Amino acid sequence: MDPYAKPLPRPSRYSAPFWQGARRGELLLQSCKACGVSQHPAGPVCRDCWSDRLEWRAASGKGKVYSYTIVHRTTTQGFAGETPYAVAIVELDEGPRVTTNITGCPVDAVKIDMRVRAVFTPATDEITLVKFAPEPA
Ligand SMILES: [Zn+2]
Repeated sequence: MDPYAKPLPRPSRYSAPFWQGARRGELLLQSCKACGVSQHPAGPVCRDCWSDRLEWRAASGKGKVYSYTIVHRTTTQGFAGETPYAVAIVELDEGPRVTTNITGCPVDAVKIDMRVRAVFTPATDEITLVKFAPEPA
């Protein structure tokens, strides 16, 4: 594999399970055992009720485009050869919103409320990125 030239996430003690799940092709969300809310990104306590009784649960991997932008010019090394590309906020069916890329379709096909599903893109041996593609019709 060529050296990966783009910025990579750095898993923290809170987010490490998310990235381990992504390597297995699973979208994991931190879920509160006290109030049932799912959250992303992960943290030490529930953002809703402040409980520290959190567990990881597999999410459906499905959601919809909440917002997006198309990047036509970038100053970030590594992305220059990939413009235009879509950066989006996807609202998961479980509630949390994730910042991601939309892939698997032309950028002009990306629309607000478009149904999408998670796809897992290995970047390095350690990091697999979670992107989203249109849900099959
Ligand atoms: Zn809670």
